[in-house]
Amino acid sequence: MAGEFALIDRIRARARSRADVVLGIGDDAALLAVPPGQQLVVTTDTLVAGVHWPDGTAPADIGWKALAVNLSDLAAMAATPAWVTLALTLPFASAEERSAFVDGFLDGFCELADEHDVALVGGDTTSGPLAVTVTAHGLVAPGAALHRDAARPGDDVWVTGTLGDAAGALAQWRARGPFSAKLRYRLDRPTPRLAVAAALRGLARAAVDVSDGLLADLGHVLAASGGLGAALELGRLPTSRTLADHFADERARWPLQLSGGDDYELCFTAAPADALAIEMALDAAGCGAAVIGRITAEPGIRLTTPEGEAWVPGAAGYEHFGRA
Ligand code: ADP
Ligand code: MG
Repeated sequence: MAGEFALIDRIRARARSRADVVLGIGDDAALLAVPPGQQLVVTTDTLVAGVHWPDGTAPADIGWKALAVNLSDLAAMAATPAWVTLALTLPFASAEERSAFVDGFLDGFCELADEHDVALVGGDTTSGPLAVTVTAHGLVAPGAALHRDAARPGDDVWVTGTLGDAAGALAQWRARGPFSAKLRYRLDRPTPRLAVAAALRGLARAAVDVSDGLLADLGHVLAASGGLGAALELGRLPTSRTLADHFADERARWPLQLSGGDDYELCFTAAPADALAIEMALDAAGCGAAVIGRITAEPGIRLTTPEGEAWVPGAAGYEHFGRA
C-alpha cells in the first residue's frame, strides 16, 4: 500500500515496548523473551467494519475495543498479557485519511495497552475493507490457566460486573431513539477483567469470557465439561442501574442480558465452599460478581423467574430485541 512505511513509522513511534521485547517493530518478525517456567497463551480476534461496531464509532473506540476483546480472552484463561501484534486493513484513499484514522485508533489502543503494560511488537498493514486483527500473547504458570472444560455438577455459576449493558446500547442504537451514553460507553469501551482473572487462579474451576452472550458462552463451558447443564435464577443476573432504568420491563431486559454479546464479563464456576474466598478475592480486585445459579448433571440451561416460574427466552424477548 502506498505510504505503508510512513504509516508503520507512525505506529512504531507510539508503540509501547517492554524489557522482554528483544526485537519489536521493524524487522521481519518480533523476538520475545518468554520467561523460564511460563507458558505462552495466544489468542486472536478480528473486528470488521459493518459487523463488529456501529457505523460512526470513533477510531479511538475501535482501537480500544480491538485490544480489549483480545485481552478479555487472555483474562478468561487467567493469563497475564505481555505482547500483541496488530493487522490493519484500511480502505481510505488518501494518506491524510489513513493517518487520521490510525492516530485516533492508537489513542484508544495505546490507552488500554499502557494500562496493562502490553507491548505492540509487530503487525501488518494492508489496504481493503476496514478490518482490524489483534493477536495477543500472554503468560501463565503451568497448571494455572482456567479452562472451559473444568465445570462440575454442584458448582456455583458466577458472573463479574453487570450483564446486558452493551446489548442495551446496541438495541438503542438500532432503534435510533433515546439512548444512554453510559450504556454506549460499555459497548465501545469494554473492560477486560484481567485483575479479576488473576485473583481467581486456584479458586475458579472453569471460566469463559462473555463475548457472544451468557447462554452461548456458558453453553460452551457446559459442552466442554462433558455435557453438563445449569439452573440459573433470572432475578440474580447482575444488572446496572442504567440498564434497569432504560429497560424497566425485566422480560424485555433478560434477553439482552442472556443473549446480547459484547459485555466481556467473565463467567466462571467454582465450588460453593470457595464462595467466601472468591468474594474476598474479587473485593481486592475491585470488581463485583454475583452467583447466578448452579451447574447441574442434567444437560441444558434452565431459567427461573423471581416468581419461581420456568422461563424460556422465546419469541417475546428475541422479537423485541430483533425489532429494536
Ligand atoms: P514484512 O513485509 O517483512 O512482513 P512489513 O513491511 O509488513 O514487513 O512490516 C515491517 C515491520 O512493521 C514489521 O516489523 C511489522 O511487524 C511491522 N508492522 C507492520 N504493520 C504494522 C502494524 N499495523 N502495527 C504494528 N507493526 C506493524
Ligand atoms: Mg507485510
